[in-house]
Amino acid sequence: MALIVQKFGGSSVADTARVQNVARIITDTYKQGNDVVVVLSAQGDTTDDLIAKAKEINPKASKREMDMLLSTGEQISVSLCAMAIEAMGYQAVSLTGWQAGMLTDSNYSAARIKRVRAERIQKELDKKKIVLVTGFQGINKYDDITTLGRGGSDTSAVALAAALHADLCQIYTDVDGVYTADPRHVTGAKKLDEITFDEMLELASLGAQVLHNRSVEMAKRYNVNMEVLSSLSGNPGTKVKEVVKTMEKTHVSGVAKDKNVARIALVGLADQPGIAFKIFSLLAKEKVNVDIILQSIGREESKDISFTVSQDDMEKAKQVMEANQDVIGFKSLEVTDQVAKISIVGAGMANNSGVACKMFEALFSASINIHMISTSEIKVSVLVDERDAERAVQAIHDRFFSEFASN
Ligand code: ADP
Ligand code: ASP
Ligand code: MG
Repeated sequence: MALIVQKFGGSSVADTARVQNVARIITDTYKQGNDVVVVLSAQGDTTDDLIAKAKEINPKASKREMDMLLSTGEQISVSLCAMAIEAMGYQAVSLTGWQAGMLTDSNYSAARIKRVRAERIQKELDKKKIVLVTGFQGINKYDDITTLGRGGSDTSAVALAAALHADLCQIYTDVDGVYTADPRHVTGAKKLDEITFDEMLELASLGAQVLHNRSVEMAKRYNVNMEVLSSLSGNPGTKVKEVVKTMEKTHVSGVAKDKNVARIALVGLADQPGIAFKIFSLLAKEKVNVDIILQSIGREESKDISFTVSQDDMEKAKQVMEANQDVIGFKSLEVTDQVAKISIVGAGMANNSGVACKMFEALFSASINIHMISTSEIKVSVLVDERDAERAVQAIHDRFFSEFASN
């Protein structure tokens, strides 16, 4: 007998038939003699619909009230699914984040789980019940409801798996597993049988929405046995783990796209020490996260610095720069959100200099211009025009993963 945590995303519970389908998967697992803890997301587009509803009433609603509202979507899913399970003749109990002991900090809309007090869940498991917990939410020290950020139900599931020392954490979704690129948008994307935590963390952080990046971070930290699979097909999924068998062979395991990027360029800065320090300390003070940074070579005592931020931070970054134009001393400021970041990720690329070159060649062949480049041990990212993003992903993917490509 094992303890298994199963998480089902929004499309897996979108309507009555899907809820019943999920109830079948859960009870099949239970029938095999396992304890089962289930984490559910809100049905279909419920979270988006709730956000739209809030905007109609108050476009600047406080984050606390937004969390109060958004947490209701998951409550609908768990209660309906518990009813479906009961209708099949099994005992189930649904719990909200606070009933399940999901304690978070107070950062509304992007809260972090601090601790899971799992006594209640354990008590229900001891009574041989199937336990269903709302994903994406918790409670803070003021007893207020918090949410973990979009896509956060994956993180709820991994946190529960870690706290309960589960044998397995299954993330059920609407595709067969983790692919070499988004299978809905990239022709020829291939399913990976397994992927390392490090690669998955990069892919998730660089735009592959299939897993919430913090869920992967947590799974790595607590060594949670994790797999991603489809709630609809019944096919084997992708195992996410510390070390995988194929690591030596392939250099690149996936391509990701992130459109939530904005670029800010400061033109005509003095070519002297301390300028970068001034710019980035001003941004840090305002808690603006900077991603890629590019500085040109100084010429005629002048240089340019450009950097990227998430689109949510674009206005703030722009305002900070404008307000400090005299202190920083730039001639002009260019701001755009019409850019996208495309990345390749692979644990095997660290000692292989040809990988980045291949990526650039693919972009050159597709006549796509690169604005910025950044690299790390296991990834190469480029910034391109947003209108080129889809073509760029496809061209890079073809270069590394088509039938005749060597990778
Ligand atoms: P859920 O509602 O189950 O949490 P999400 O919509 O959050 O599902 O994530 C699944 C989606 O992630 C897929 O439908 C797919 O379009 C997208 N996706 C992006 N990149 C990848 C990838 N590399 N592998 C698999 N799916 C991906
Ligand atoms: N329902 C939330 C969202 O749509 C959480 C999740 O699905 O993981 O972002
Ligand atoms: Mg998701």
